[in-house]
Amino acid sequence: AAYVLAVDLGVRHLVMARVGLGGRVLDRVEVDSGRDWSELDATIDAIVDNCRRLRDGAPQGARCVGVGLSVPGVVGQGDGLLRFAPNLGWIDLPLGARLGERLDLPAFLANDADLGALAEHWRGAAVGYDHVVVISGEIGLGGGILVGGRPLRGRGGYAGEIGHLRVNPDGRLCRCGSVGCLETETGVESLLTAAGLSADSGLEVYRAVLAQVAAGEPKAVAAAARVARWLGIGVGMLINTFNPDIVVLGGPLGELFVLTEDVVRNTVARSSLVAPREQVRMAASVLGPDAQLVGAAELAFAPLLEDPIGV
Ligand code: BGC
Ligand code: ZN
Repeated sequence: AAYVLAVDLGVRHLVMARVGLGGRVLDRVEVDSGRDWSELDATIDAIVDNCRRLRDGAPQGARCVGVGLSVPGVVGQGDGLLRFAPNLGWIDLPLGARLGERLDLPAFLANDADLGALAEHWRGAAVGYDHVVVISGEIGLGGGILVGGRPLRGRGGYAGEIGHLRVNPDGRLCRCGSVGCLETETGVESLLTAAGLSADSGLEVYRAVLAQVAAGEPKAVAAAARVARWLGIGVGMLINTFNPDIVVLGGPLGELFVLTEDVVRNTVARSSLVAPREQVRMAASVLGPDAQLVGAAELAFAPLLEDPIGV
C-alpha cells in the first residue's frame, strides 16, 4: 500500500510519522522533545535519519510516495521555500528541495497553522464549516483561514500570520522584530512568564501550570486569565474581520482555552461586533497535537490524488 512520510517540525519538537491514505498514522517517532531545533543542519539530519528509519521499518511492498513537512514559519506557495521562521531564526531556506534531495522523494512544505486548519476542516473540529479560523502554535502562534471552503492564501501564500498582529503596544518583544504581537501575549512563553516562570521552561511546565489552573490554584488562575484576555482580544479581531462559522483553538492554546473559556468569551463579547459574534462557534481542536502531521500527510498525498489542496 502507498504511504507518505509526514514531518511536524516545531520550535521545540520534531515528530515524524508514516501515514497511510485517509490520514491513518501507521508508525511514529518523536525525537528529543524539548530541544532547540534552530540548528539547521542537525535538524535536517535528524529528519532524514528518522524518515529513513521509518521507511526501513515499513512492511515489504509498502511504497513511500512523498514527504510532507509542516514548519513554524512563512512558506512561499508551491516553491518549498521557507521564507521566515521567526522563532527558529531561519530566513529563506530551500527546505523542501534539501529534504527532497536527501530522501530522494517528492517533498512538500507548508506552514504549520495552514496545515492544521486544513486537517481540522477535513476531520477535526471544523468539519462541515466553510468559514473557518484555526489558531495554533506553541512558542509562536499562527492562523489558518478558510473562506468559502477554500484556504485564504493571499498573493504569495503568506496570509494568516495572525500571531504577529500587534495587540499590545506595551507588550513583550517578539522575535519577528515587532512588539506585543498576539503570539508574545498568548503563546506558551506568555503563560509561563505570567506565572512567574522562565519563558523557556517548555511545554511540560506549561501543562503543569494548566493543571494548577484546573485545580484552582489562584496564582496560576490569574496568569491564565491574563493570557485568556489577550486571546479574546485576538479572537474578537478575527471575528470582526472574517465573520467565521467557527474559530478553532489548536495546540497548547486549545488546552488553555478549555480551562479559561469564560474569560475568553467575556473578552470576545466586549471586543467584537454583535452580528458576527452571534454566528460564531468557538472550540478547541479535535486533532490536537496530530493536526500538523495529518495536514502534512495530506499535503504529500495531494499530488498523487490529483487533488491539489492549495496550500
Ligand atoms: C510564525 C507562523 C507560524 C506560527 C506557529 C509564528 O511565529 O510566524 O508562520 O505559523 O508561529 O508556529
Ligand atoms: Zn511578532
